[in-house]
Amino acid sequence: MATSSNSSLSGSSVSSDAEDYQPPIWKSYLYQLQQEAPRPKRIICPREVENRPKYYGREFHGIISREQADELLGGVEGAYILRESQRQPGCYTLALRFGNQTLNYRLFYDGKHFVGEKRFESIHDLVTDGLITLYIETKASEYISKMTTNPIYEHIGYATLLREKVSRRLSRSKTESRKASVTACEETTPVEKITSLVRRAALTQNDNYFNYEKAHNFKVHTFRGPHWCEYCANFMWGLIAQGVRCSDCGLNVHKQCSKYVPNDCQPDLKRIKRVYCCDLTTLVKAHNTQRPMVVDICIREIEERGLKSEGIYRVSGFTEHIEDVKMAFDRDGDKADVSANLYPDINIIAGALKLYFRDLPIPIITYDTYSKFIDAAKLCNPDERLEAVHEVLLLLPAAHYETLRFLMIHLKKITMNEKDNFMSAENLGIVFGPTLMRPPEDSTLATLNDMRYQKLIVQILIENEDVLF
Ligand SMILES: [Zn+2]
Ligand SMILES: [Zn+2]
Repeated sequence: MATSSNSSLSGSSVSSDAEDYQPPIWKSYLYQLQQEAPRPKRIICPREVENRPKYYGREFHGIISREQADELLGGVEGAYILRESQRQPGCYTLALRFGNQTLNYRLFYDGKHFVGEKRFESIHDLVTDGLITLYIETKASEYISKMTTNPIYEHIGYATLLREKVSRRLSRSKTESRKASVTACEETTPVEKITSLVRRAALTQNDNYFNYEKAHNFKVHTFRGPHWCEYCANFMWGLIAQGVRCSDCGLNVHKQCSKYVPNDCQPDLKRIKRVYCCDLTTLVKAHNTQRPMVVDICIREIEERGLKSEGIYRVSGFTEHIEDVKMAFDRDGDKADVSANLYPDINIIAGALKLYFRDLPIPIITYDTYSKFIDAAKLCNPDERLEAVHEVLLLLPAAHYETLRFLMIHLKKITMNEKDNFMSAENLGIVFGPTLMRPPEDSTLATLNDMRYQKLIVQILIENEDVLF
């Protein structure tokens, strides 16, 4: 492996000169190995086997001993048979020749065939994938253990490498909407292979003013056709479940590489279908806004025509109309029409804003920090309490913190009109407490006990606005 891996590795160094931008060099060593891996050779049983499970074919030889199996395989690499255990009838074994020995695997079936985590439609696929994996992991174990040490990701993903070229490419479409500019970039960029890396690098350098951290949302993925890891630039081997893909930005990496990828996910608008019920950081990163647009738009509308409205946030609007607003945001994003023409009752807009917070998969005051806020609220000394609240606030994810801060400035304005709207900080605390914070476990008792502390937290935040600056 020494010579070929070295030659592949040498391709990994990327020029540091921005003007000399080269598309990522995809390393072919593991791809070559996959091509070289032994192919499955099915050894067919010449006789009719009784009790053959219907999901096995003629590679099933019935109850035979290990020695008999060995003999049938004839020392041919990749040869395989299935047999039923002599000692435990009803248990099945895959006997496979690899590396001049016979390997035996306990074989399972539950609609798909498997010996480990990966599940296959056919025994042939299972053996093909097994042979590739065995071959690559035997031949290249050292190479694989080192492939994360010099990732292309750092060079290309967030370094300045792409700045010049990409900004020039994007400047043409600068006036178009961001979505359009991404599409234009993908269609016209002369880069050999567009990857989510390139797209993200483009966004990072040009559009991403709000640098919130966001973890990738990796899920095991089966790639159709050959795919390369966008972290280490190596081939993703195997027949199925070759790696993981981020469902928010589309980044494709090896499972082992996913542990090293920084929390720099830049969600792709095409993948984010909704506004409501979408993780807050994911939404603001996808739309490249400082806060969720629902919050900005609803608050603007309420400050324009609802500050003096009696019982604002306490009086509920018609549920159907609130659902309409939600659908409008999901469908039209920041183009959603929430004007007085369409919704003369401002309580509908207030209701839609509250619903947005309630629908968040992770509340504004996150599950992680929930109990710390409650503990802070329980302190008797007001100064200590304020200090404790201040400290926990710093633990919130940046986008959550910013949204909460913006909301509190708004709620303060509501209380400044208390003589008209009759909404005090305490009243707003009652309304917003359970909306902004929910206990991690859904226990009715805990929720009841915590309610006055939830209220108190919101009240403290409204009354002490400087705690949020
Ligand atoms: Zn991602
Ligand atoms: Zn990788």
